[in-house]
Amino acid sequence: MAHKFIRVDKKFPLRRIPTGEELLNDPAFNKGTAFTCEERDALGLRGLLPPQVCDIKQQVSRVMENYRRKPDELEKFVFLASLRDRNETLFYRVVMDNIVELMPIIYTPVVGQACQQYGLIFRRPRGMFLTIKDKGHMADILRNWRTTETRVIVVTDGERILGLGDLGANGMGIPIGKLALYTACAGVDPQLCLPITIDVGTNNEMLLDDPHYIGIRERRLRGPEYDEIIEEFVQAVQEVFPTCLIQFEDFANLNAFRLLNKYRDRVCTFNDDIQGTAGVTLAGIYSAMRITGGKLKDQKILFLGGGAAGVGISDLIVSAMKVEGLSEEDAKRRCWLVDSKGLVVKSREGLQDHKLAYAHDHEFLPDLLSAIKGLKPTILCGVSGQPGTFTEDIVKAMGEINERPLIFALSNPTSKAECMAKQAYQWTDGRAIYASGSPFDPLEYKGKRYVPGQGNNAYVFPGVGLGIVACGAKHVTNKMFFAAAKALAHQVSEDDLATGCIYPPLTKIRDVSGDIAKAVAEEAYDSGLATVPRPDDLLEYIMDQMYQPEYPHYV
Ligand code: NAD
Repeated sequence: MAHKFIRVDKKFPLRRIPTGEELLNDPAFNKGTAFTCEERDALGLRGLLPPQVCDIKQQVSRVMENYRRKPDELEKFVFLASLRDRNETLFYRVVMDNIVELMPIIYTPVVGQACQQYGLIFRRPRGMFLTIKDKGHMADILRNWRTTETRVIVVTDGERILGLGDLGANGMGIPIGKLALYTACAGVDPQLCLPITIDVGTNNEMLLDDPHYIGIRERRLRGPEYDEIIEEFVQAVQEVFPTCLIQFEDFANLNAFRLLNKYRDRVCTFNDDIQGTAGVTLAGIYSAMRITGGKLKDQKILFLGGGAAGVGISDLIVSAMKVEGLSEEDAKRRCWLVDSKGLVVKSREGLQDHKLAYAHDHEFLPDLLSAIKGLKPTILCGVSGQPGTFTEDIVKAMGEINERPLIFALSNPTSKAECMAKQAYQWTDGRAIYASGSPFDPLEYKGKRYVPGQGNNAYVFPGVGLGIVACGAKHVTNKMFFAAAKALAHQVSEDDLATGCIYPPLTKIRDVSGDIAKAVAEEAYDSGLATVPRPDDLLEYIMDQMYQPEYPHYV
C-alpha cells in the first residue's frame, strides 16, 4: 500500500501516513466520512466512503445518538472502545464534548466492570502486554511499539484493580482508561501515551478457571524474581523511551510502596494510588476549609483503610501541615488509621511497614465507631474498598462531634463506596460535606440542592503528567502533588461551595489540568528538576502543548 509524507501538525513536521483502505483502518489518521473530496482524491479514498462528506460535529451527533441507544453500560463501554479503535480524533472529540456523561463509562465505575469481563469483551489489543515469559527481552519488545516518542506510560500488574482486587491481565482496562483521561482531561497527545500491563500471573481462582481469561494461567510471581521483572521493565523504558514518565497504577500495597521508594529518585515516576489520591484529597480538604472556616493544621483525620491511599494521603497532609507550622510529629498525630483489625496503634504487633509512621501511642480501639468516639476526628476518609462501612451510627457520630463533618467515601467503583451521598446528607440533616471516589448525581434534600464532589485522582494525575511532560521533569516529588492540590482547590468557586461541592465541575477539567500542570512545572523549575528551558509564559506554553481533537488537513 502506498504512503505519503504529510505535515499533520506543527509538533511532528512530517509524518508518513498510509493511503487508501489502510488509512481508513489507522485510528490515528482516520477521519471517516469527514475526509473532504480533495483528500479522497489525493489519498486514494475515492469509492471507499459514502459520498456524503460530514463535519466532525455531525459525526459527534451520530456517535452520541448510537451511544444512547446502547442497552447497558458495558455495551456503551464496548461501543466507545471500538470508536477509539476506528477514529481516535472523533473519540476524543466525543469524550471531551460529553465529559460528564462519558467519564463514568470510560473510567470508574464502568471500567471496573469492563475489567472484570475483559476476556469476554476483548476485541482488539491496545497498549502492550509484558509477561514473565519476556524476561531478558523487554527492551526488544518495547521496540515493537509503533513509536519511540512515548512520553507517558501507565503500568499495572493488575493485583489491586480499583477496590475489586486481583484481576490479573484483565486489569489492562485501567491503564487504557487512565491514559484516555490524560488526553481528554489534560490534552496529552494520545500518540505520546502507552498503556502497559505486566502479567506476572494472578491468584484469582475465577480467572484461572475462566476459559476467556486473556492472561497467563499461573499464580502470581513473588519475591526477588518479581522485583527482577519490574527492574528490567524500568530499565527497558529508560533505554527505549528515555524521557518517559512511568505512572504505577493499581499495584497491591505490598509492592506499591516498595517500588515507589526504590524508583522515585532514580527515574521519572509516581504512584497514582499513593500520590495522586493524596493530591485530590488534600485539595478537597482545602476547599472544605473554606466552608467550615477551619485551618488544615487543626484537623484530625481518621482513615478507614491503611493501604496505599490512606498512607499516601496522610503523608501529603503531614507535609502540608508542616507548611502551616506544625512539627512532623504533631502533624502525624493528626492522622489516624483504622484497618481491618481496628485502630492502628503502637502496641499492635505485626503491622506492615507502611503503617508504622501512623501507629501512635494510644489505647487500642477495636472498630471504627469506637475510634470516632475516642479520637473525635473532624474528617472521616474511606479508602478501605469495603462498601457500606460508613453506617448510620458512624456518620451520625461524626455529625454529633462536628457542625460540618467532612465525609470522604473514596473507594471505587460505586459498589465499593463506604456510603452513598444521600445517606451522608440524610444522616447529618444536610450538614455533611461529602465527596466520593466515583460520581454521584446531584440531589435535593429538604429543598436544598447538593452536588456531591468526585474525589477522584482523575482531577490530579492528568494535569501532573502534562506538567511533567511539558517541562521534562527528571523526577516527580511530593511537593509537586502539594502544588497540584493547591491549584485544584483554587479552581473551586463560591458557587460550587454553596452546593457543598468541594471540587470544580468536570466541564472545567481542561483549564483545571492546565493550572495544575503549570503549578507542577513551576515546582520542577524552582527545584532544578526541569530539563526544558523555562518559557516566559509558562501557562501559555502549557496550554499551547495541549492536544486538540481536530482533524488535520491532509491536502
Ligand atoms: P490497599 O489495598 O492498599 O488498602 C486497603 C486498606 O483497607 C488496607 O489497609 C486494608 O487493611 C484495609 N481494609 C480492608 N478491609 C477493611 C475493613 N473491613 N475495615 C477497615 N479496613 C479495611 O488499597 P488502596 O490503594 O489504599 O485503595 C483502597 C480503596 O480506595 C480502593 O477501593 C480504591 O478504589 C480506592 N481508591 C480511590 C481513589 C480515588 O481517587 N478516589 C484512589 C485510590 C484508591
